[in-house]
Amino acid sequence: MATTCDYCHGRKGKRSCPALNGLICSTCCGENRLTKIACPADCPYLEAGTDYQRQRVGELFRQDRRRVYREILEIGGEKAAGLFNLIEIVCFSYFHNKPSGLDGEVVAALEFIRRLLSPIHFPAPTVPAFSQYLHKEFKAFLEKEKVDLEQAQQVVDLALTLVKEFSGTGLRSNRFLTGLIGCLTMDHPDVVAHLKTQETDQPRIVLAGEGEIAGAAKEQAQREKSRIVIPGAPAPAHDHEHHGHKH
Ligand SMILES: [Zn+2]
Repeated sequence: MATTCDYCHGRKGKRSCPALNGLICSTCCGENRLTKIACPADCPYLEAGTDYQRQRVGELFRQDRRRVYREILEIGGEKAAGLFNLIEIVCFSYFHNKPSGLDGEVVAALEFIRRLLSPIHFPAPTVPAFSQYLHKEFKAFLEKEKVDLEQAQQVVDLALTLVKEFSGTGLRSNRFLTGLIGCLTMDHPDVVAHLKTQETDQPRIVLAGEGEIAGAAKEQAQREKSRIVIPGAPAPAHDHEHHGHKH
């Protein structure tokens, strides 16, 4: 009948589910929201921004994040990884206390940067706040670290693909942001604590001095002073896996 849960087709569907465009039982909703169901960010059952939600999605995101880091390290080594990390950190800083933030804002910002990196520039009539913020930080990093432009393009392309794939097809998704915030909170609590004390209005990149950005950044991250989180740097207490191998 029409009142059966559209997910398990067994129990009674009592909630209206905007992702399934039908009814869902509370068990299926609770177990699968954002992990297996592409919930729009404004669903009233979503509890957006809660630690529990972020943790569940963060665990899924962790695998994708590691894969992308491996690809980026192969393309451009630790400098390229530093650039990708900058994107993550800027997203975290800007959105960790904005539960209404949407993945679409991140996609727009990355596409904005991508256009600026290509040989032909199209002036954008209006630039959203997050795009401006990310661009400011991104540009400062490129100039300071003299990142090869072609590598920078590849990093942005990989970031775009990751965000879009993880976000899913829903136009109002925040699955990427939820996963990113959850993953960084679990794996790099010291860095996250540091970020939360900072304002996001000013560009505030913490850069290593001379030479190898990522090497120095790793050290800094371990001293809880850096915004840079390089994967593979020992996370305190609970991450004993090794990720050094190439697939
Ligand atoms: Zn169900």
